[in-house]
Amino acid sequence: MLWADTASYSEVKMKLKSRTFIGGFNRFRLMLTLGLAVLLPAAALIYVNFSQLRAFERDKVLEAAIHRDFQDRLALTEKKINKRAFTLAEEARDFFPSPDDDIHEKERKLDLVLAKSPWLAHVFLFDEKGFVLRSQPQQMSDKYFRDEHDHLIENYHWMTMEGKSSVVDLHKRARPNIYGGPTKRSYGETYLATAMFILPQLPKDRVVIGGVMFDPCFLRQTLFSGVLDEMANEQSNNQGGNPLALMIYAPDPEMGKEIKPLSATAGWGDGKPEVMRKFDDSFRGLAMGIKYQGTSAAALGQTLVHRSFLILGILSLMIIGGLVLTKHVVSKEMALARLKSDFVSNVSHELRTPLALIRLYAETLELGRITTSEKKQQYYRIIRKESERLTALINNILDFSRIEAGRKEYEFRETDIAELVRNTLDSYRYQIEQQGFEFEEDIDSNLPAVPVDREAIARALVNLVNNALKYSTDEKFLGVKLYRENGVLKLEVMDHGIGIARRDQSKIFEKFYRTGDPLVHNTKGSGLGLSLVRHITQAHGGEIAVESIPGKGSKFTLSLPVTSPISQRSAVQSA
Ligand code: ADP
Repeated sequence: MLWADTASYSEVKMKLKSRTFIGGFNRFRLMLTLGLAVLLPAAALIYVNFSQLRAFERDKVLEAAIHRDFQDRLALTEKKINKRAFTLAEEARDFFPSPDDDIHEKERKLDLVLAKSPWLAHVFLFDEKGFVLRSQPQQMSDKYFRDEHDHLIENYHWMTMEGKSSVVDLHKRARPNIYGGPTKRSYGETYLATAMFILPQLPKDRVVIGGVMFDPCFLRQTLFSGVLDEMANEQSNNQGGNPLALMIYAPDPEMGKEIKPLSATAGWGDGKPEVMRKFDDSFRGLAMGIKYQGTSAAALGQTLVHRSFLILGILSLMIIGGLVLTKHVVSKEMALARLKSDFVSNVSHELRTPLALIRLYAETLELGRITTSEKKQQYYRIIRKESERLTALINNILDFSRIEAGRKEYEFRETDIAELVRNTLDSYRYQIEQQGFEFEEDIDSNLPAVPVDREAIARALVNLVNNALKYSTDEKFLGVKLYRENGVLKLEVMDHGIGIARRDQSKIFEKFYRTGDPLVHNTKGSGLGLSLVRHITQAHGGEIAVESIPGKGSKFTLSLPVTSPISQRSAVQSA
């Protein structure tokens, strides 16, 4: 009969299974923590470190790639500038006079070319008869311009000497030849570019050279500037990222030591070009420079290194955090393992003692040596009492294993709680008095029926009463009080026993926890009772509290709301 309401074999096996499950779960958690918090960041750190080792090289690779790209852009810029200049020169050439025109006609036609092309400063025609130079008339008032004009007229003689080879060369090129050099204007040094060409309709052996000279202002502000802007914008439109800046300058020492751009895009600012390229066909003597606006390829490489360091720092912090966390988890696990091993030896003891007593008294009765019915009654009572202790212990263990496995269910039924408390105490009354306890019972009978799990509440009460009996020494007193206060039912179990130190008061509700008091050490127990009481109370929407003074006694108060929450009528899982 006793075993019927305690534990079947399969239940005990289930209990064992659930314990291995708990162990497995904790190990899994430990492995997960180790994996996520330590191994992953550590692996990432190693990887980043590795790449970091190669990063210096990679910076160079990045820089080299950027420089190659810059070179390509400059080559393209040069091509575009040349093409535009050629087109302008060839457009002007179409209106050039024939070498066979008379001098007036030549001058008239050249003046017409100047009028049509205000971007030209001078135009000239050299042929067998001589050299005709015409300049923009409205600029002749400018001293520098006039000087330039005079200088050109004075120095045309080289054409007489080199004209023939120049014509051969121009025939080979099939495009104008553009060359240039420094000149002066009121605003300072600048660059004058000349495009020389042959007239296409003439036979190859005639030494006739036409030429146009680009106005320096137009060259800088329109032709160069237009192409540079186009190239810079093309980059930002196509790829986004860091905007480019380009410029054209004369790297001639006469033009000053520091680089003075002849023409530059808006974002050039100061500083040196990242990459430069000399014009290698037309516009000789000029060079182009390119760079990022506000940054450099080296700075970009450095940003990369800085970013890696930042990632390295964050990962290191994660690893340290992970290690601290792991240490915390491991020490918690170890403490729990210690508690569990204590639990096993405690429970074994607790099972063995009542079983030995039951066996002893049953055997004595069986031998028929006991004659007085009073004595027999006493032995029966001992057997019953010890069986009850076993029942309580095994019930606790089973409940605990169900809670741990998340399978504990409560069945809430409207219950006269006063009657439940009284009935539960009745089966203990004899034991209480036998042990010499003064028992005070104060139960309010006018309490409303409340939905509770009867068995669970009875078990909670039994656990509290058992503890009061176990942990009392000199002054043996047990008080149980049931009353209603502010819409809450309160069940108090009070003793004048050894009490509980303040620092232990919050821990005694944890599973396996037992205080270090020597009496506790010598008293059998599993450390499960109060953790069950707390679970049961919380499942009913209530709470458990303890007030205690060491050496004076303890008072456990179980508070239950008068109406338990409906949601808790069904299964309540372990926290
Ligand atoms: P145990 O099986 O050890 O009694 P419990 O969970 O019921 O386990 O109690 C946990 C611990 O709380 C006990 O080991 C004891 O140290 C302390 N304790 C519980 N009730 C009392 C009490 N009435 N007086 C003094 N200490 C108590």
